[in-house]
Amino acid sequence: MAQADIGLIGLGVMGSNLALNIAEKDHAIAVYNRTTSKTGIFFESAGELRERVLPCNSLEELVAAIRPPRPIILMVSAGPAVDEEIARLRKLLSENDIIIDAGNANFHDTVRRFHELEGSGLTFIGMGVSGGEEGARHGPSIMVGGTKQSYERVEGVLNDIAAKYEGEPCCAWLGTDGAGHFVKTIHNGIEYADMQMIAEIYGIFRDGLGMEAKEIAPVFAGWNRGRLNSYLIEITAEVLAADDPKTGQPMVDMILDSAGQKGTGRWSVIEAQQMGVPATAIEAAVAFRGLSAMKAEREAAEKAYGKLALEKRGTVSHDDLELALFAGKIGAYAQGFAVMTAASREFNWSLPMGTIAKIWRAGCIIRSQFLGRITDAFERADDLDNLFMAPSFVEMMKEAHPALRRIVAWAAAAGLPAPALSSALAYFDGYRQGRGTANLIQGQRDFFGAHGFERIDQAGESHGPWGSHG
Ligand code: NAP
Repeated sequence: MAQADIGLIGLGVMGSNLALNIAEKDHAIAVYNRTTSKTGIFFESAGELRERVLPCNSLEELVAAIRPPRPIILMVSAGPAVDEEIARLRKLLSENDIIIDAGNANFHDTVRRFHELEGSGLTFIGMGVSGGEEGARHGPSIMVGGTKQSYERVEGVLNDIAAKYEGEPCCAWLGTDGAGHFVKTIHNGIEYADMQMIAEIYGIFRDGLGMEAKEIAPVFAGWNRGRLNSYLIEITAEVLAADDPKTGQPMVDMILDSAGQKGTGRWSVIEAQQMGVPATAIEAAVAFRGLSAMKAEREAAEKAYGKLALEKRGTVSHDDLELALFAGKIGAYAQGFAVMTAASREFNWSLPMGTIAKIWRAGCIIRSQFLGRITDAFERADDLDNLFMAPSFVEMMKEAHPALRRIVAWAAAAGLPAPALSSALAYFDGYRQGRGTANLIQGQRDFFGAHGFERIDQAGESHGPWGSHG
């Protein structure tokens, strides 16, 4: 085989699948893994694709196997492993070679790495890849940050391996340094909210309406044919329909109610808070993963307060639940896009919102028909401050928010937690309220701390008539 077009380090779940995807798209790829025995196993498993795979047992071998200028993808565990690999590669690479971190990096690390490599002759790309194992193998959504020139050198390969939506690759350059990893982080934050809201609706079916998993599954399958059509709704129906091979019980009933998390949801919330942008539905989703992990405490509290009794408390319609989930989803996406809008200003990225929605339409975990509507909204007005203000979304929200209100109220009365749905509703109600209640907060702040306030009838700082208290 002649020299490879591209290299990849890290043959774990994501790396091995991405390498096969690249080889399948007719690009020769050189691969290396720290534990070299895995490289051999990977090569053996590559079947016909072996003719386009060059297994390497050292970084020196890897570098020599790639045609310069060399693009090398790092698909190793996020964190120190990335810095260690960059340090090793710096000694071996030459002018114009490109190091691409395709893991789930914290974008602050990506910004740092990008600037550390500036002036070294090497360039750095921070690339968010979504779609899990299946996406990596057959077409992920790819969010790229780095210089436009370095992107152009790898654009061909990335477009070939990315998911396609109506023929268009779900891959784009989104801005410099950490832009790609930031957008991937917010993608995951939105994913947390999407999943939490679906779980809340499942909880209403299970604990509020007393339905079995097998009865709930077809409802989600039906919704997947309507406005909620999405990968997450599709897999929800499949998860609910599956049986446990060991016990014959519904699989979902045998799974411990304690959810894991790796950090991207939390990073979304931290960045939103840093910029003062409300992302309450995402925050609620992250917080509830934390609460889910407190299994022993929750069981003790259930004993202390008593188990909720499923009693006849009137019912809710499936149509209302569907519409409520749709309204909540709009709220969560409005928050996610608002965080990206603020970050775009804060970090000088000029993030292209319409393009982001476009490349999320296929390949990634939150892929959905709904993202097509967001794409249209931003294509009509790319300076949109909030999705709630896009004319098409005003219409959708007007139709859907009364259902969200009824479901949140019903869940609260029944004692069923709906933190993400209710946060989305409160956000919407706060956002649409021309005169809120922060006037009182300003009065209180001035009372105890002489912080001053602005009057509605006069510019400049004023103080209240309360004298010196506090
Ligand atoms: P994984 O299966 O655990 O594989 C980790 C890889 O990193 C292995 O090849 C491992 O090599 C290598 N590695 C770990 N520490 C290293 C070090 N200090 N030096 C060199 N190599 C090191 O992980 P994964 O699921 O493929 O994830 C890889 C990256 O993709 C992570 O950043 C993850 O967050 C991100 N990601 C994952 C998914 C997903 O669905 N799994 C989706 C999107 C993004 P050894 O074989 O030698 O241990």
